This record gives sequence, structure tokens and C-alpha cells, in this order.
Amino acid sequence: MRYLSTRGERDQDRPGFGDILLAGLAADGGLFLPERYPRVDEATVAHWRRTLTEDGYAALAAEVIGLFVDDIPAADLRTLCEHAYSDQVFSDSEIVPVSALGNGIWLSHLSEGPTAAFKDLAMQLLGQLFEYQLARTGTELNILGATSGDTGSAAEYAMLGRAGIRVFMLTPAGRMTPFQQAQMFSIDDPAIINIAVDGVFDDCQDLVKEVAGDAAFKEQYRLGAVNSINWARLVAQVVYYVASWLRVTTADDQQVSFTVPTGNFGNICAGHIARELGVPIAQLVLATNENNVLDEFFRTGIYRVRGAAETHATSSPSMDISKASNFERFIFDLLGRDSARVRHLFGELLPNQGFFDLSDTPEFAGITERFGFVSGSSTHADRVATIAATWHQHRVLIDPHTADGVKVAAEFVQPDVPMIVTETALPVKFAETIVEAIGIEPERPARFAGIEGLPRHVIDLPNDAEALKALIRSRVDG
Ligand SMILES: *Cc1c(COP(=O)(O)O)cnc(C)c1O
Repeated sequence: MRYLSTRGERDQDRPGFGDILLAGLAADGGLFLPERYPRVDEATVAHWRRTLTEDGYAALAAEVIGLFVDDIPAADLRTLCEHAYSDQVFSDSEIVPVSALGNGIWLSHLSEGPTAAFKDLAMQLLGQLFEYQLARTGTELNILGATSGDTGSAAEYAMLGRAGIRVFMLTPAGRMTPFQQAQMFSIDDPAIINIAVDGVFDDCQDLVKEVAGDAAFKEQYRLGAVNSINWARLVAQVVYYVASWLRVTTADDQQVSFTVPTGNFGNICAGHIARELGVPIAQLVLATNENNVLDEFFRTGIYRVRGAAETHATSSPSMDISKASNFERFIFDLLGRDSARVRHLFGELLPNQGFFDLSDTPEFAGITERFGFVSGSSTHADRVATIAATWHQHRVLIDPHTADGVKVAAEFVQPDVPMIVTETALPVKFAETIVEAIGIEPERPARFAGIEGLPRHVIDLPNDAEALKALIRSRVDG
């Protein structure tokens, strides 16, 4: 399988999976996608069903991911998946269990990993793949990132103990929840360097940009990233769409729908790819919070990115986005993979006028019929009411992100088509909203007992790029 860029300028030398594993954007500023989506046949689907039942999630992952990888031997890929998706790492041996909620709605539990959020599913595989690729090429990697919570901790737990990898993770000092801080700062390992910057999240991100933007420094210190546009993260996420579908169906042509609480369009983009593979997905329901830039697009055909002032801080903070970094991938497919049009929309119109408008195009008119997409959104009051209703009716406690999904899912459920909502985090991470909804603290899984009391490993840093460079030098050069 070779890969191309959504902006298509370097069509001559198409890289393979291993070549783009550690890369971010393509050289032309586009995002990588496989040059075509494999279509699976009935025999493959039947084989997948047996594989999941008999050999488990990791074995299925190796099969599905293997469709997109031809430069890692199948046996090696299987081993990497076994390490990433084991019951040592995930608290449920099914890795992604599925349960019925009632009224045709199901929950796909994506949050059984070390940080109780769905990002673990992609990051754990990424940790394995990075270590493997670095060993093959005899290189090291220093991951430099900024986080306001979930992504940073998922990255740290995935890279912990991986040979040749260090993580420098910037956090805004005093601005994460005590639980989030404890998750990251309790890690005691010289290769995981937590940094508390005197500033807000945007300051952290600017520092990363400034330091990684120094090309000579970046090369000398082998700096890399684990951002949400990474192709390997997406492909890892395709697996749980296949697994969830298999778990709620008995026949290989039985349809399901998915509702996905969405921020950067990573999770639901994997659902789109699963559908293109041939998984019988009727609807892909995109759910946003008050930051509804994507809901607006799917309702109107206008994609209008927001500024910082228009981006709301909500009770589902991992969906508080101003623009969706993976969205260009879907638009590329929507426009029949016309890279010139994508270049015009994302390379010219968005930077210059802040929006583009596809409302009059035949592609937008056919978006639901061809791709299954529909959308909705929730407010804080909706999410609180949904958490309370789900608790009182079903005795199931869901977090505010998942509540966004359940609220929107209920608007689109069709008779006889199971509607699967992806549970993107556990309620324990958002105790404040849970207490607001039902007046009770969420139960804390045993693996998180007492983490706030553990010793903290974090370095305070002024908001200054030179200070960050000095810290990186001292840790890398020893
Ligand atoms: C990251 C995240 C999301 C949004 O996922 P995208 O892939 O960015 O659309 C939703 N919920 C939770 C809990 C998250 O951590």
C-alpha cells in the first residue's frame, strides 16, 4: 500500500506506511491517505468474525491494520498488536467491549486503557510501531508536545518504556484537573519529562511551534510529534469500528450505525474509512458540543473555522476545537479525491477568508446518501440531562463527551439498526459534571485509586523557548 497527499503535489514518489509513520503533514501541507481503500469481500469478513471470537482483539487488529501496511512482516505486526492490546494494558480482556444501553442504543467502550480515554487505543499501537521502526532504522526520537489533558497522558503511557523514545510534554501550570495532573505527573521515568509552563495551553503550543520550527535544532535533537493527524493513529482506530460492528451483529451483512463525539475528526474519520472498507455502516452520526463547526458544515455545506474568542470552554473539553485537523481527509474523499480542489479550499480559501462553501455542489447534496454522514450537537444542559437520564433509567454512568453522543444518537436511531455510541472517556475524569448531574461522585476504577497522593515528577519552566531548548539539550546530551 502506497500513500498520497490530499494536496497531491508530490504524486511521483509515493511513500509506504513506514515512511509516513513518523511524519506529520506531507511536504505540500496535505494529509496522507492510502492511494485507494481496500474493499473486503465476504470471505474476509467471515474470517474476521472468527478471528475476533477465537483469537481476540489484537489478532483482529493485525488483520485490519495489515490491509494498510506492506512494509512490516505480518508476524511482526501481529506481535506489535499483541503488545499494544493486551490485558496487561487494558482493564478489560475484550479491549473494546460493547454493551446495550436500551432503546436501540449501544455503547462501544473505548476507554478501558491506562488513561481512561479512547486515545489510548491509537497511542498504544503508535508506541509499539515507533519503537519497532526506530530500532529498524537505528535512530532515536524525542517527542515534543503540548497538552491540556488527554492527549499528553495517553502519549506518555504509550511511550513509557519504549526504547529510543523520550517524551517532553508541556502543560499549562495549574490548569489541568487534579486527576489529569496526577495521571501524568505520577509517572516516574527519566524518559518521560513533564513540564509545567507558566502560561496557558496556547503558550505551550506556541513554545512547541517555536522550538520545532528551528530546523537545525529539530534535526540535531531528532524532535517528533504524536499529533492527531498521524495516519497510524487513524488506522488503529478503524479496528474498533470493525470489532464493535462484529460484536453487536450475528450476520455479516447486518447494518449498524455509529454516533461519535467529535473534535478533530480523527475518531469519526476512522469510521468513514471502515465504511469505505465495506463494513455495513448505515449512518455515521457526527456529534459536537457548543463548538459546532463540523455540525454546521454537515447541516449547511459551509465550513467556517473559528478564532480563539469564538471557541467555548465547555464541560466536554476534549471536543473544544476551532478547526478540525483531520477534516481535509474527508473532504478529499467527498470531492472524488480531486487534490486541486482540496488545495484551493484548504490552501487558499481557508487561510484567506476563513471559510469555504460547498452548499451548491452535487457532492454536498449527496453527502448522506454516499457517505452516511448526518450530524447534531449538544449544550451543557443537554449533556447534564443525558447523564442523569442514562443513570436513572439504566444505572449506567457516562462521561460528558459520551453524553453528547448519546443525546445526538437518540435523534437518529432507526428501527432495527443498532446505534453504537463510542464511549470516549470514563466519568471518573469529569467528576465535577457528574456531581452536577446526579449528585454523586463517580466510582473510581481500582487502577486510579489514590493517584493524587503519589510523588509528582514535573519541571517548572518559564514561558521561554530558550529555556525549553536548554532543558532538551541537558536531557538528550546527558
Ligand atoms: C479527543 C477526544 C474526543 C474528540 O475526538 P476526535 O478524534 O478529535 O474527533 C472526544 N472525546 C474525548 C474524551 C477525547 O479525548
